[in-house]
Amino acid sequence: MNKPVDSSPGQDWIDSGRIESAVGEILAAVGENSAREGLRETPQRVARMYGELFAGMHENAGAHLEVQFDENHRELVLFRDVRFYSLCEHHLLPFFGVAHIAYIPGGHITGLSKVVRAFKALSARPQVQERLGSQMADLMMEKLAPLGAAVVVEARHMCMEMRGVRAPGSLITTSALRGAFETRESTRMEFFTLIKGERSAL
Ligand SMILES: [Zn+2]
Repeated sequence: MNKPVDSSPGQDWIDSGRIESAVGEILAAVGENSAREGLRETPQRVARMYGELFAGMHENAGAHLEVQFDENHRELVLFRDVRFYSLCEHHLLPFFGVAHIAYIPGGHITGLSKVVRAFKALSARPQVQERLGSQMADLMMEKLAPLGAAVVVEARHMCMEMRGVRAPGSLITTSALRGAFETRESTRMEFFTLIKGERSAL
């Protein structure tokens, strides 16, 4: 049942040469001298960087959740403050923050690290925050058949801070609620109370 999951694929899927010439073009277009020392290796560095930042495109996020154990726990399991970094697909600038990911098992649980790995795989793609949260909630519903799944994402977007509206420090919160989290008020309340509560000093 422990299927191997390629969490750090090689970069052969990426067309590095194409990124390199595109980055060279951008540097030239903004009037930079791409031959000067600091920039000489930049196109290659950026190509390698995208291989890392978009590694999730070639990772099967759902495969992580296929590691399952039968367990009769039917109460909330919450992953709180899962730090993540992603790139917005509209500007290719980072957005980052924390995710709170919960599910109520319907007969089986998955490995604790697997939920985080699945979320990281979904983050490492050109993304939008709204979709990141709902993809994760839908993936848990599909793979774990839980009684419910919930994902709240709180993030800062560099495309809103460094450019455009220039609103430094503003926080965007999105939520995706499925199953019991959507239909049962008490379950939803429990989730939101837990994610808002003081962190224990562990
Ligand atoms: Zn953006």
